Amino acid sequence: MDTFVAVIAFLAGLNIGSFLNVVIWRLPRGEMMAKKRSHCPQCGAQIAWYDNIPVISWILLRGRCRNPDCKARISARYPLVELLTAVLFLLAVRAYPDHLATAGLIAAYLAALVAITFIDLDHRIIPDKISKPGMAIAFLLAPINMLHHEPLMWFSVGGLKPALNAYIHAGAGLAMGAGVIYTIRFVASAILRKEAMGLGDVKLLALIGAVVGPLNALYSLAIGCLGGAIVGGVMAFVGKLRPMPCRLEITGRDLEEPAVFGRAKVRGDHLEVHDAPSLKEGAKLRVKLTLPMMRILAEEDETLELKGRVASAGDRTLRVALRDVQEADADVLGLFERSYKYIPFGPFLALGGAVTALYAHDVHWLLTEWYPAFARSLVTGGC
Ligand SMILES: [Zn+2]
Repeated sequence: MDTFVAVIAFLAGLNIGSFLNVVIWRLPRGEMMAKKRSHCPQCGAQIAWYDNIPVISWILLRGRCRNPDCKARISARYPLVELLTAVLFLLAVRAYPDHLATAGLIAAYLAALVAITFIDLDHRIIPDKISKPGMAIAFLLAPINMLHHEPLMWFSVGGLKPALNAYIHAGAGLAMGAGVIYTIRFVASAILRKEAMGLGDVKLLALIGAVVGPLNALYSLAIGCLGGAIVGGVMAFVGKLRPMPCRLEITGRDLEEPAVFGRAKVRGDHLEVHDAPSLKEGAKLRVKLTLPMMRILAEEDETLELKGRVASAGDRTLRVALRDVQEADADVLGLFERSYKYIPFGPFLALGGAVTALYAHDVHWLLTEWYPAFARSLVTGGC
């Protein structure tokens, strides 16, 4: 790999990573992208250009706001996202050293995956604003993407021009990505009787398929499932050692002191509390919900304070109707509700999509040659 290209890729990655931090913060909140300069979320002070240099500024400021009256902590995630993006850009030019157009396309795709990963971790959504244009761009640029050309492509139709074959291959990848998750979602939802995998995952694997092709879309899903199973397993194990459920604190006139519960269930705009103190129906309450960060793999606890009223008080079970729920609160409530059911799958799909884009050849070899041989040796060696 050309050292000059590598340095440029790394520096570009740092700067794009810095931009991704802005995207991750603003896009799900519906804020404009380029309109205003960055401010400290704590004190509102504008961030000078020399305090906005990727990674370096964070180290020089020791991870705190420059304003001496504020000194708010700046999360280590910001420089980490910048470094991660830089490393991914480096890997992209390393994977396609003789084809810079593909390297650039893959770098842009990896940047989109980074943004999707962290937005999904923070908000449990995969934004259409990234996945949909991403699909369109990936499809339109298929002819300059080496993954849609021999020898990396899965199939080609004889007699057709390479560009046309590239479009067919990218279109097949898009359809495969969307179709396979949609099918899993349909079957799993029917069995589990609740929503398994969101439509966001469908669009994400469609985007991945449009970039890496139909066979690699399946590999991406396989890697995503493996990663999800490992992390989910570890989290279940850790969760067993230290339970980290959503915590509920209730304050009310009828209560002598705040009641704290380790297990509250959110059902729409109602709360279900078990082993609750006996309260009269209609009693007014203040409710504070805390969702530990480990539960949602986010960087800080999620808390929500709302007013509520006891809707019904059954046998040690309390139903609290939440009042004055604003639209923004409803989004966060959805987070509490869903967090009981799953960890987000988007980041794992994104991991699979990144690995196959960067190591398409190795993944194929690993799954079609190495693993079958390994499995055979296990069977014959065991006899
Ligand atoms: Zn500040």
